[in-house]
Amino acid sequence: MVSFQEAQDIVLAQVRSFGTEEVMLDEAFGRVLAEQIRADRDYPPFPRATMDGYALRYADLVQGARLFRVVETLFAGSQAVSRIGSGECYKIMTGAAVPEDADLVIRREDVREGEKEMEVGMKDPEPWRPYLNIARQGEDLRAGDLVIEMPCRCDPAVMGLLATLGKSTVAVARRPQIGLITTGNEVVKPGDPVSPVQIRNSNHWMLMAALRREGLRLTSYKHTEDDPGKMMKLMEGFLHLDVLIVTGGVSAGDADHVPRILSELGVRRLFHKIAMRPGKPTWCGISPEGGMVFALPGNPFSCLVNFALLIAPYIHACWGLEHSKPMALPLREARRKRTPLDEFFPVRIEGSPAMLTQMPLNGSGDIRLGMQANALAMHPAGSGDLGAGAEVAFYSFV
Ligand code: AMP
Ligand code: MG
Repeated sequence: MVSFQEAQDIVLAQVRSFGTEEVMLDEAFGRVLAEQIRADRDYPPFPRATMDGYALRYADLVQGARLFRVVETLFAGSQAVSRIGSGECYKIMTGAAVPEDADLVIRREDVREGEKEMEVGMKDPEPWRPYLNIARQGEDLRAGDLVIEMPCRCDPAVMGLLATLGKSTVAVARRPQIGLITTGNEVVKPGDPVSPVQIRNSNHWMLMAALRREGLRLTSYKHTEDDPGKMMKLMEGFLHLDVLIVTGGVSAGDADHVPRILSELGVRRLFHKIAMRPGKPTWCGISPEGGMVFALPGNPFSCLVNFALLIAPYIHACWGLEHSKPMALPLREARRKRTPLDEFFPVRIEGSPAMLTQMPLNGSGDIRLGMQANALAMHPAGSGDLGAGAEVAFYSFV
């Protein structure tokens, strides 16, 4: 038996690359960048008006000029054709390029506008200064600057940035090939007839959704009865995959054949049993081809916790991402310690100031799965009951 921390460390020590591939920008959302991204030009690429108003020469204002002739109107995307001299200005819109011969923009609200001229209002103290309301060329980034360091998940901001930088394709980390085998004579598919002593397959759908949230899909899926021969045949066909998840059949019951079968198939055991709840019977190993095998207890909440704390961190680490460290917040209501193990329980981070609210869950067999939780909180081995307001470490799902 290993501790939760040991189990996670062992899993994370097995990282390997799944390779990289080039994808269209449309496909990049949620993927992990596998290239460094540099600025293709200065940003802003030209001096940009940040307000609707009038562009003119600061020196004119210093010399006391207040009345200006409007020589041209500049829209975003248009290029000035005229030049301005002393006592002249451009009418300019937000986002338009400020021509070289102007060095500040006065907001529309701060002038009196006429047909062909405008008058700058008197202000005390005068607020004018060079480059007022102009974002200067290169003030955000210089051409060649490193903008996005890999590895980095393509979130909406990164997607927008990649588009700005003109990337129509990007190199991303490949997704692992993932297989899932659910086990159990009692487990039937939703929609199929169910006897009073059978239950429906929750793990398949729950894990599929957990994978989707990571931008992943199952390469192969099968359900099997607790028949050692059938199980062995099936598992053998899944061992070439990068990640194999098996649910059920790892505990100490007479029908729990999974650890023995995996060993017989040459899967090298990394650990069996973790001093945590849920997820105590978890078995983990490496296939002869180098794939990771996670054999999880069948209880859906155990599977969810194992996915969040071992499988997702493993895949993140293979992509080169830093795995998310726990944070801490106060617990809204007290919690009793139930076992000498590290206990994980579903919480929702909410409120201001933020606190952790416990989600209803009556043990790891509860079908509600800590629904609407957005984090897993940890009640550490060796600690007593937690009082209301106690600081608790948690792993966020989001
Ligand atoms: P096991 O680890 O096979 O002993 O299963 C533990 C508990 O999880 C049992 O009550 C099983 O009926 C239940 N279980 C196993 N597999 C699934 C599944 N795919 N979906 C929902 N419950 C399951
Ligand atoms: Mg079973």
